[in-house]
Amino acid sequence: MLNADEWKAQVVADGQTLCPACWSGNLTMGACAVGALTVHQEYVCEDCQYEFSALFGLVGGYPGQLAQ
Ligand SMILES: [Zn+2]
Repeated sequence: MLNADEWKAQVVADGQTLCPACWSGNLTMGACAVGALTVHQEYVCEDCQYEFSALFGLVGGYPGQLAQ
């Protein structure tokens, strides 16, 4: 199993979240915890049953509109 930095590099290169244990893209998303600057997303690999979490960071924002 690759370390976190190697996993991140592979996910960025592939453009999709991959299982860090077997590299399958056949994942089920579990609980999601949203903070002010981060999002933790849990995943379960459907091929090897490995459970892991991805940590996402704030990269920007975009304007919306006033609620009516
Ligand atoms: Zn797996």
